[in-house]
Amino acid sequence: MSVPAKRRPSSSKRRRAAHFAIQATRTSSCPKCGKQILPHCVCPFCGSYKGKEYLKSKLDKKEEKRLKKQKAQAAEKQNK
Ligand SMILES: [Zn+2]
Repeated sequence: MSVPAKRRPSSSKRRRAAHFAIQATRTSSCPKCGKQILPHCVCPFCGSYKGKEYLKSKLDKKEEKRLKKQKAQAAEKQNK
């Protein structure tokens, strides 16, 4: 393993370290639901991108679950 030839001055070290700070992630707001989302990505909350729906939103998933439950209950009632 190589060893640094000369000691780095503190000013040089600090100058290099000036770019080490973590930047906050840049976000944009969803045009449909208005929540903060990553730019150029499908909104994880409502599932839309550029006015089109690509994913099922959380509300849709909840509704689907509720309907499934209702169907299962109805089937159980018929069996009894
Ligand atoms: Zn959205």
